[in-house]
Amino acid sequence: MPFVSTRGTEQISAPEAIVRGIAPDGGLYVPLKLPKLSREDFDALAQMDYPARAAYTLDAVLDGFTLEELLPMAKDAYARFDDPAVAPIRELKDGRSVLELFHGPTLAFKDMALQFLPRLLTASAFKRGESKEIAILTATSGDTGKAALEGFKDVKGTSVTVFYPLGGVSAVQEKQMVTSEGKNVHVIAVKGNFDDAQTGVKTLFGDPAFQRKMDALGKTLSSANSINLGRLAPQVAYYLSACAELLRRGKIAWETGLNVCVPTGNFGNILAAWYARRMGAPIKKLICASNRNDVLTDFINTGVYDRRREFHKTISPSMDILISSNLERFLWELAEGDPAAVRGWMDQLKRDGAYEISGRQKEMLKDAFYGGFADDAATRKTIRDIWETEQYLTDPHTGVAMRVAQDYRDKTGDQTPLLIVSTASPYKFAADVAEAIGAEVKGDAFAAAAALEKKTGVKAPAAVLALKDMPVLHTLVCDKERMGEAVLAGFDGQQA
Ligand SMILES: *Cc1c(COP(=O)(O)O)cnc(C)c1O
Repeated sequence: MPFVSTRGTEQISAPEAIVRGIAPDGGLYVPLKLPKLSREDFDALAQMDYPARAAYTLDAVLDGFTLEELLPMAKDAYARFDDPAVAPIRELKDGRSVLELFHGPTLAFKDMALQFLPRLLTASAFKRGESKEIAILTATSGDTGKAALEGFKDVKGTSVTVFYPLGGVSAVQEKQMVTSEGKNVHVIAVKGNFDDAQTGVKTLFGDPAFQRKMDALGKTLSSANSINLGRLAPQVAYYLSACAELLRRGKIAWETGLNVCVPTGNFGNILAAWYARRMGAPIKKLICASNRNDVLTDFINTGVYDRRREFHKTISPSMDILISSNLERFLWELAEGDPAAVRGWMDQLKRDGAYEISGRQKEMLKDAFYGGFADDAATRKTIRDIWETEQYLTDPHTGVAMRVAQDYRDKTGDQTPLLIVSTASPYKFAADVAEAIGAEVKGDAFAAAAALEKKTGVKAPAAVLALKDMPVLHTLVCDKERMGEAVLAGFDGQQA
């Protein structure tokens, strides 16, 4: 199954795409073809445990790896999850259920892919005969950073440098990152917002002078951001897994299927749902839920992507994004694989801050997607309502999705079973969740976690409690124009 850049025509294998991360032309790698699964394939998936489902999915999506290679990788990747189902489904009322993707070591859905990526990446590099160290550079809106640091920590032949927006992540997220251990990990705060950090990383990937310097240090650049194919592919697995599981439980029917609602920032998670849908998963509507940074809501409703708007800091910081980088992969599909069209839109976005798709493409978009958003007040109210009516405790990102999913049902009357994707543990955002449900909060995030536990009886994950007393190991801050120098300085420190 060859892969191609959204902005070019060169066909390469999956291992090559995974090592490169981003294409030399600035595009993202997309599959030229995906296999179609049958009802029987889903029945077979339902009989497997989660690692086997993941290995099966990757074998179907990626060329260049055998199932025998993928199975042990998947077993390792999901060994540290605190639920035997890895991605369990909790059923709520009214044909709704929640797919919990936060049972990994950093308590957010990024672990689903980032525990797998280092294994795919080192195996890919080995296949390609790569001898240089793989230097991961990544920008984070909060959760990717820690998940990448955990995933790559002390993995031989790799290093990882994470940039996060100073003051732009939650207290727990920041503490998780700056306490990261491992000889090969670097954490740097950037004076700017997430888009600045992400743009800075993208610029470094396109900067030949920077690459030469890295080369001289014996390092080759790669990305752990959601633009890496090795991030995207493991995410397809939990959609296939969830469909198989709900079919097995008799909660959905093959013909009528389900709708899926995903709290969205960079469009990576929901794009994986789209690929699952293309592979035959019985997913009908893809409900794209945003917070007040509602650039995707407007895009789905109008066909105009316009980033020229105010940036809002919200209680769902991992979705505080105005440039959804993975959307480019979907644009390639809308353009039916025409790289010139994608290049045109991306140039316009860079130059003017906006672009518009054609009338026919708008129809295609609206046929598959519904877009909606929820502000912080609506999100808080939803967290409280779900707690009071269902005793289900939910984090603010998932709260956004719950709200938008309900709006969708109210607006359309569509009562198709609904799978709401839950992307973080409520304890990762304990202060906001505690406040939303009316628990009394005094003090820091850890006091909030204690208050939340006391009020709800829902146990806090051990990983949150342990964090309180861990020493800060990373204190570097840099200007958004000087990220390259900061990376190189980090390696100097490592060698000294
Ligand atoms: C990253 C993240 C999101 C957004 O996912 P995308 O793939 O960027 O759309 C949502 N919620 C949480 C908790 C996250 O960490």
